[in-house]
Amino acid sequence: MKLLHILACFMLAGAPVWGQQAADTVAPEGAGAGLVQVSPAVRAAQDAKADGRAVVAENWMVVAANPLASDAGATVLKAGGTAADAMVAVQAVLGLVEPQSSGLGGGAFLVWRDGATGEITTLDGRETAPLAATPRLFQDAEGQPLSFYDAVVGGRSVGVPGTPALMQSAHDRWGRAEWAGLFDDAIRLAEDGFEVSPRLALMVAGDALKLSRFESTRAYFFPDDGLLEVGARLQNPAYARSLRSLAEEGAEAFYTGDIARDIVQTVQSAPGNPGVMSEVDLAIYRVRERDPVCVPYRVYEVCGMGPPSSGALTVGQILGMLEPYDLAAMGADSAQAWRLIGDASRLAFADRGRYMADSDFVPVPVQGLVSRNYMKTRSELLRGDDVLPEVAPGKPEFDHSLNLADDAAIEFPSTSHISIVDRYGNALSMTTTIENAFGSRLMVRGFLLNNELTDFSFQSHEDGVPVANRVEPGKRPRSSMAPTIVLKDGEPVLIVGSPGGSRIIGYVVKAIIAHLDWKMDVQQAVSLPNMVNRFGEFDVEAGRVSPSLASDLAEMGYEVSRQPLVSGLHAISIGEVLRGGADPRREGIALGE
Ligand code: GLU
Repeated sequence: MKLLHILACFMLAGAPVWGQQAADTVAPEGAGAGLVQVSPAVRAAQDAKADGRAVVAENWMVVAANPLASDAGATVLKAGGTAADAMVAVQAVLGLVEPQSSGLGGGAFLVWRDGATGEITTLDGRETAPLAATPRLFQDAEGQPLSFYDAVVGGRSVGVPGTPALMQSAHDRWGRAEWAGLFDDAIRLAEDGFEVSPRLALMVAGDALKLSRFESTRAYFFPDDGLLEVGARLQNPAYARSLRSLAEEGAEAFYTGDIARDIVQTVQSAPGNPGVMSEVDLAIYRVRERDPVCVPYRVYEVCGMGPPSSGALTVGQILGMLEPYDLAAMGADSAQAWRLIGDASRLAFADRGRYMADSDFVPVPVQGLVSRNYMKTRSELLRGDDVLPEVAPGKPEFDHSLNLADDAAIEFPSTSHISIVDRYGNALSMTTTIENAFGSRLMVRGFLLNNELTDFSFQSHEDGVPVANRVEPGKRPRSSMAPTIVLKDGEPVLIVGSPGGSRIIGYVVKAIIAHLDWKMDVQQAVSLPNMVNRFGEFDVEAGRVSPSLASDLAEMGYEVSRQPLVSGLHAISIGEVLRGGADPRREGIALGE
C-alpha cells in the first residue's frame, strides 16, 4: 500500500491520525508477546505481567518500556555493571525500539540513591532553549499563542538535547563498566534490525500525516512508502553510526562536530517552521546537578526532581496535604479517598501553574511550597465532605516578593520511565522524553529531535504580569516528570516514575498511595486503574474504573471524564527481595536475578 493510500484509509476510518489520541493509543494486551526475538527470561517476565504478578529477584532489577531495552540493561547488571551503566544501555536501545518516546535527541531527569553513601543526587538533563529564543517564540505577529501542533512540528520547538550528556555524566559519576561496550546491544540491533513492536507500529500509523512531513523521517518510518508491520525487522544504520561516535568519543561527539552541525542544519532549515538553535547552544550544554526535593509522608520520605521539573514539588504537595487523612482506612474503592486525592491534586496544580518553572530564571519558593506549615493550611481546605467549588494558588512563604501570572503550558503524553537497582545497592529512577510522541518529527542521523520547548507557556504575560514558565534564552521548560525514590529510615523502599504529560503526577501519586497506604504489591499498585484530577475534571480510566465509583464522584459534584489514561509506570519495591512491576498499558517488563 502506498503512503497516500494509507493516509486516506486512516482518515476515512476515523483513525487517530492527529494529536493526543495517537499518543494515548493503548497497545494491544500483552503487546510484545508473539515476537520471536526474546529470551526465556523475557518470556517469563511477560508471562508474569500478563498474570498480574510482580517479578521477584534478589540482587538486581531493571524495569523499562520495551523488552529489548530491559534485556540490554539486564545483560549489563548481570555482568556486574552498576545501575548507571545499565541505564546507558537501556537508553541506547530505547532510542531505537521506542523512538517515539525518548532518545539521543531528547532530555531526562535522573534520581540516584547511592548504595555506599546513602546520598540522593538529582541530575537535570533537561533540554534548553537556544540563546536566540525569546518569550515570543510561540506567538504570532499579533502576540497570540500559536496552535499546539503548528508550534510542535518543525525546528521551532526543538530544545538543546540533554540525554547524551546525562548518560555520560551518570557514567562518569557512578559507572564501573567500560563506556564503549554499553552501546553494543543497541548498535547490533540497529545494524541487524529489531522487530517492530505492536505499539510502535500502531503509533506510526496513527501519526502518519505528521511523520511524513519531513523527508528523512518519512523515509525511515515508511520504508517503501508502506506502513511498518508488527514483527517486521527494521534497521537503522544511521543510528548505529551515531552510537558508534558516542561510544568511541563520548558525549562530546554529539555536542560538537558533524552530529551537532547536522542537528543545527536540520532545525534551522525545517520547511515551514524553522528554529533558532546554533552550534554554540549545543557546545555550551551542561547537565546540572540540582538539590533533590524530599518531602515527608507518614513514615516515609519521598524524594525526586526539583525545578525545572514540577514533579517532586507537586507530588510532594499532594502527599503533604493528604497526610492528616487516613487513606488506609478508607481504601482504594472509597469515593471519599479519591475526593481527597483529587482536590489535593487540584490545589497543587494551582500552585504549580503559578510558581513552578526553571529556578535559574525565576525564584521558585521550593521550601515554602512544601513546608509543614503551608501544607497544613492547604490541607485544612480539604476538611468536610464536599468537592471544593473553586481552587486558587496559595501563598507559600517566599524569600522574595514576586508577582506572577498563571501558566498556560500544554503537555501531551509520550515519554518513558526507567527504574533500576544494582547489586551494589544503588537505585536509579529516570524519566526520559522527547516530549510529544515522535517529538518535533525531525530526524537527524537516525534519531528524532524533541519538541520540549512547547512545555514552556506559549503566553508570556497576562495583563503585563510575566508567567514564570515563559520562554527565555538558555532557560529549561517546566516539566511534570517525576522520577521518584521513596525512603524509609533512610533506606530506599520504592522506585517509581511514569510518562503521561502532566498526568504523570497523578499516576505517580496513585502508585505511591496504592503501595504505601493500601499495601498493594508493586505490580498491583502499577496496574490499579488510573484516576487523575488536575484542573477540576476527574479523569477516570475508561473501562477500568468501576461505574459505581465514577458515579459516586459525579454525585459529589465532579465532572467525570472517561479517558484512556495510558500511564507507563515502572516500579521496583525493595524489601527482603526486589519486586518489579511494569505497566500493563504498555510493553515494558521487569527483569531481575
Ligand atoms: N514533556 C513532558 C514533561 O517533561 C513529558 C511528556 C510526557 O510524559 O509525555 O513533563
